[in-house]
Amino acid sequence: MYAGVESGGTKIVCAVSHDPEQLVARTSFPTGIDPQAAVIKMAEFFREQEEKHDEIEAIGFGSFGPCDPNPSSDRFGYVTSTPKPGWQHFDVISALRDALKGKGLSGDVPIPFDTDVNAAALAEHRCGAGRAVDCFAYFTVGTGIGGGALESGRLLHGLIHPEMGHIRIPRPASEIEAFDGVCPYHGDCWEGVAAGPAIAARWGERGENLPAQHPAWDLEAAYLAAGLHAIVCTLSPGRIAVGGGVGLAPGLLERVRPLLLKSLANYVDSPVLLERIDEYLVPAATGADAGVIGAMLLAEQALSEK
Ligand code: ZN
Repeated sequence: MYAGVESGGTKIVCAVSHDPEQLVARTSFPTGIDPQAAVIKMAEFFREQEEKHDEIEAIGFGSFGPCDPNPSSDRFGYVTSTPKPGWQHFDVISALRDALKGKGLSGDVPIPFDTDVNAAALAEHRCGAGRAVDCFAYFTVGTGIGGGALESGRLLHGLIHPEMGHIRIPRPASEIEAFDGVCPYHGDCWEGVAAGPAIAARWGERGENLPAQHPAWDLEAAYLAAGLHAIVCTLSPGRIAVGGGVGLAPGLLERVRPLLLKSLANYVDSPVLLERIDEYLVPAATGADAGVIGAMLLAEQALSEK
C-alpha cells in the first residue's frame, strides 16, 4: 500500500491506497505551528491504516516550500526558509521517520520528498488536464501561487525547485501607487499581488465574496496573464493547467486567455496557442486531492525505481 502526505500552508492531508488514483482512506488536519505534533498525527493515521488494511511500502511527501527535495543535499527533507512560524529549517522527513518508529511502524520505507505543488503537477499530468502532454505546467492560485512543470514525465527541479509564484510581473502605475503587495520576501511579486491574501488585502474583501463584475477580477486576470506570459516564454509548455480557489473562480480563465494572447502579440507562433487557447490554458481537473494523489505517485515512482 502507498501512503501520501500533502503538507500545505494551512492544512495537511494524509491518504493511503493501492492505486494512487483511488484513495482507500484520507484525513486532514490544520498544519499548525508545531511540526513535531504534525508528524505524530501523520504517523498515528498511518498506523491505523496499516492495522485496518495493509502494510505501507512507501510514503510520498509533498511539502509547502521552500524546501529541499534534492536527495544528494545534506538538507534533503527539510522545510527551509518558509515564513511559516515553527517550520523554518525543520527536518520533516527525519522527524516523520522517528514518529513512525515511535508508533511501531517501519521508519525505513522510502519517503520521496518534493514540493506540494510539484506533487499536484504530477497528479495533474498523470490523471488530470496534463495527460499525454510532453511539457506541461501546472499552477495553483489560492493562498499562494505555486507552479510545477514536467518535461518527458519528469518534474523540473534545477537548483532546488521552481518558485514560479515569486516572479516579478509588470504592474499598472496606479496599482503600484495603490498597493505594495503582501509577499513577506518580495512585496509585489506575482503571488504578492495576485494570490488570495493579496486580493483580500487590496480590496478589503475575500475573492469569493467579490461579484464577477468587480474590478478586482479584471486586475486579477491581467496579473495572471502577465505571469503566464513569462511562463510561456521561459518554459514553452505544451499546455498550462490552473487550479486553486482563486484560479478556478468562475469565468476567470475565460478573461485571462484573450489577455495572454494580446500580451504575447502573436510572437509565440504556435497554432495550439493561437487557435486553440481554450485547450491550451485549461482548468485543473484533479480537484482538491491533487497534492495527496501526487504524493502517492511519488511513492509509486520511488518503489518502481527501487
Ligand atoms: Zn514573493
